[in-house]
Amino acid sequence: MTPRPRPPKGPRTVDADVAVIGLGAMGSMTAWHLARAGASVLGFEQFGLAHDRGASAGESRLFRMAYHEGAAYVPLLRHARELWGELGAASGLPLFHPTGCLSLGLPELPPMRNVRRSVEEHGLDHEILDQDHLAARYPQHLARPGEIGVLDVRGGVLRPELAVLAACAQARLAGARLLDHTRVESVRPEDDRVRITAGGTEYTAGAVVVTAGPWSGRLVPALAGHLTVRPLVLTWFAPRADAAAYAPERFPAFIRDTDGVHLFGVPMMDGMSVKTGFADVWGDLPGPDAFTRDIDEARLRPLGEAVGRYLPGLHPYPVRHAVYHEGYTADRTAVIDRVPGQDRVVVLAGFSGHGFKMAPAFGRIAAELALERGTSFDIAPMRISRLAETAP
Ligand SMILES: Cc1cc2nc3c(=O)[nH]c(=O)nc-3n(C[C@H](O)[C@H](O)[C@H](O)COP(=O)(O)OP(=O)(O)OC[C@H]3O[C@@H](n4cnc5c(N)ncnc54)[C@H](O)[C@@H]3O)c2cc1C
Repeated sequence: MTPRPRPPKGPRTVDADVAVIGLGAMGSMTAWHLARAGASVLGFEQFGLAHDRGASAGESRLFRMAYHEGAAYVPLLRHARELWGELGAASGLPLFHPTGCLSLGLPELPPMRNVRRSVEEHGLDHEILDQDHLAARYPQHLARPGEIGVLDVRGGVLRPELAVLAACAQARLAGARLLDHTRVESVRPEDDRVRITAGGTEYTAGAVVVTAGPWSGRLVPALAGHLTVRPLVLTWFAPRADAAAYAPERFPAFIRDTDGVHLFGVPMMDGMSVKTGFADVWGDLPGPDAFTRDIDEARLRPLGEAVGRYLPGLHPYPVRHAVYHEGYTADRTAVIDRVPGQDRVVVLAGFSGHGFKMAPAFGRIAAELALERGTSFDIAPMRISRLAETAP
């Protein structure tokens, strides 16, 4: 994005060129891009920065380019990886750990077919390991007959809380005004501005980017009914012995689909445990504020059993767990668009459990949509109008 000159001096008609509502992964990255493009930015976060009640926390996130969800994401992923490097360098924080990412599963299953397509069509650095090679190289994973591994050499592990804080800090350095513990109550677009009420005060901006995660439907009526709120539970398991086998140098991040179990994880980043997550087992919540940290012991037990089956070197009892929230769309594709009929409102929501790795690229697209009313990235699959067609 070419840096945009600040608006001409003179009596200000709005408080900021762009307001960003919600400073999780998407909002913090959007604020960073807007501010470094020269726009005046006002950001709002209802809780503290890098809090643990949304989707952008939990110590680690997988970064992978050999993409289960489809090879079409690879150009965005490539760009995101460059931007992670830039943000890491600018902040001096270890945001990205280049551990590689190993996909495991039967080669004929759709996720593994997408992985193969991603690496082959886009020339990504990779290695393909058959079951014997997998067993020799990564004995930590118990591969099933016929399963293969695809090592995405440029994959790795991201640090979500550090990343949100880094993007906010860089945005502030470039002049952004970011308000924490300030909940936006309403967004009212007018012909020449948008009015925002937050914490009892009214603000105005030339444009608004709504990055409010599962809460976005409250501010953008066009999304209401299209975002399902899901808890995602992360679990940490300790090694039985040979802890060094799970260190980042020997144990890449991984994602696995076996016997209907969708399991992902990262190496030992805390010196004592391997983090794993299980998708699609937690059900839906009635709304974004229905937050719970209590997970019935009985619901954790099958996860321990699965870990015992697929990662037998780990104790099958989680040493801890944590719950986070994410907004899902019916087709598991995000919404990134200007709101139809409300040209000054851009929305990014519904990242469906796989948005973090692309957050810096999505933030850039949001900044382009807000400042230039267009983007060179292909966001057609993420248009808001499709929601009506894919509604459950
Ligand atoms: C447990 C878990 C594991 C995941 N693993 C991966 C992974 O390995 N790799 C990957 O790429 N992706 C992963 N994801 C997905 C990824 O983390 C999310 O897609 C991403 O973090 C979504 O960011 P967000 O900014 O949209 O949402 P959030 O982080 O929830 O941010 C929304 C923010 O808006 C604020 N807000 C809401 N309403 C208001 C209001 N009215 N006023 C002010 N502020 C408001 C909220 O407080 C919140 O901070 C995972 C998600 C979860 C939950």
